[in-house]
Formats: sequence, structure tokens, C-alpha cells
Amino acid sequence: MAEHDYYDILGVGRNATQDEIKRAYRELAKKYHPDRNPNDKGAESKLKAINEAYGVLGDPEKRTKYDRWGTADEQGIDMDNFGDIFSSIFRGFGGFGGFGGRGEPSGPEPGQTLRISIDLTFEEAFFGIEKEIAFNRKIHCETCKGSGAAPGSAPKTCPTCRGQGQVARSMGFLSVAQTCPTCGGIGETVDTPCPDCRGQGLQNERRKTALPIPPGVEDGQGIRISGGGNAGARRGPYGDLIVMFNVKPHDNFVRRGLHVYMEHEIPFSLAVLGGEVEVPTMRGLSKMKVSPGTEGGTLFRMKDKGVHAEDGRRGDQLVRIKIQIPRKLSKEQKEYLSRFSEVFD
Ligand SMILES: [Zn+2]
Ligand SMILES: [Zn+2]
Repeated sequence: MAEHDYYDILGVGRNATQDEIKRAYRELAKKYHPDRNPNDKGAESKLKAINEAYGVLGDPEKRTKYDRWGTADEQGIDMDNFGDIFSSIFRGFGGFGGFGGRGEPSGPEPGQTLRISIDLTFEEAFFGIEKEIAFNRKIHCETCKGSGAAPGSAPKTCPTCRGQGQVARSMGFLSVAQTCPTCGGIGETVDTPCPDCRGQGLQNERRKTALPIPPGVEDGQGIRISGGGNAGARRGPYGDLIVMFNVKPHDNFVRRGLHVYMEHEIPFSLAVLGGEVEVPTMRGLSKMKVSPGTEGGTLFRMKDKGVHAEDGRRGDQLVRIKIQIPRKLSKEQKEYLSRFSEVFD
């Protein structure tokens, strides 16, 4: 992809500021301007590429899209989904069968939905994180822009179905619509296939991107990125990308939804007399009140110490009390305890 890389074209680094991009663009546009390069075809196409690159990198929104997906095409990628990421989180693959259904009966088939899974630590799932993901996918061939036709030629309307993608086959009295055998439903045929993709309109891509993961995702959940999957053959729309999460367990905490559960041991005397105790939370130590006469197994709620979801919801931390029964007692402690039981008996 190197020679098509917009950053390379403008000669700037990936971390360049918008100002640096603008400056680089102005300089290059001047350098390759037709006034300075009369009748120079090379300069002309260079300027075209520079304009295209600046059209994307010069627009912060398009640039973000390009950084993530290597394209700023509206067709394939629907980044709006990221704004509403929680609603696109689903559990497992249940009920997933009917998803991504065919939009139209004819026309190029959409590309495959890709599935990858990533490991998250308990902390990453709790707080949310931007995670680098890398995967292989198909994109539209750059040589033929996905049409499958060799440069200089163009796909033409399929003569068998006249572009409908379907043909009628008669079965006795019935007429059944069938995918066109000539064009495979695309409605177009190619006389001279593109040499780079052999007419498929596809090429391989190793995609690396930063995936924002919202706080509160759980093990076995996934996120669906519309248009993040494989491109369809012959200009077919992009399929989706599904990223599943494997969340590693924590030694002390267990998650259930937005809540966090843990066990905490308190001294016998504190359980009897009540008081305050410092308890670990995901955000550090925090004070918790223990009421007098607390029994083992009592569950205390530490409000808002759970996951803070992006939509404003807050989970709690629930602490199950364990009581330390002293095993080795000093003489003095033994005396106190016997006097204590005498008073109660
Ligand atoms: Zn091609
Ligand atoms: Zn056809």
C-alpha cells in the first residue's frame, strides 16, 4: 500500500499536525502546479494524488477514518457506529444468523463478515481502552477500483440478464427467478480482467487500527463494526467486523454487569463493634462502614465504585464480609474474651 499512502504522498509523518499537513500540501501543490510543469503528465497525476491525499488528511474527521480503516470512503465504513458503541455490543453469537442480510436481490454480494477476538485484562475491560487490533481482510483492488476490469477497459452490462443479475427460468407453469449464471448476480461482465486481481476486484490488506473499547465490556461480549470486514467482489459493499472480547479474570474482583464483587476479611472485634475499614476497589483503597454486629457473609454496597459506563450509568462494588477468627490468642486476649462471653451468657 506504500505508494498509495496519503501520508507518504504528502511526505508527512502519521503524527503530523493539521498545520504541518496544510503546509506540506501547499508546498507540493506549488511544486507540481501545471504553470511550473507545462505538459508534464507526471506532474499532473502527482498533483491529482496530492489533492486526493489532502482532501482526506486535511479534514480531521476523514483523517481519523482513514487512520483507522485506510479509506475515507463513505460506502464501506460507518464510523457513526462508534458513537453508539454500547448498543452494538452483543453477547455471543446467539441470534446472529439473520444479521447482515442481503440488501437487494441482485447486485454484487457484500463481503464476508470477519470475526476476530482479542484478550483484555480485567482492568482494561473495567475502565475501557483503545486497543491496537491487526487482521487480514480484502479491500477493493486499487488498480481497477474494485470493478475487476483492466485499466483502460470498463465492465459492461451483462448480456444474459441485461444488468438485472437474475434470469427467469420456467419450471412447467412457474417462472422462477434465478441468479444469472453469466455474471453471478452482479449484472456486469468484464472482457479484459484486471491483471492485479484477476477480475475479482479484490486485494489483500493487513489492517492495523486502534479500536476504542468502552468501559464495562464483559467476557464473551463482542463489538460489531459495520463495514470493517471484507470488501465484496466486484465493487460489492463491505461486510462487518466482529471483535470478541476474552476478559481475563482478576484475583480479587469479579464482574457482573456494571457491578464488581469481592470478599473482604475484617477482624472479629470490628465485626462485633462496628467501625470503618479500608477496602481495595478498582480505583484504589476506599473507606467502608461496617455496622456493629455484622455477621460473616453480609454484603455491603459501596456505591458507584463499579464500572462507570460511557452513558453515565454507574455500577457499585459489593463486598462480602468474611470474619477473621483469631487462632492464636495471647493470655490477655483470652481473658478478655472469657469475660466477654460471661457478660453475654
Ligand atoms: Zn483489479
Ligand atoms: Zn448477468
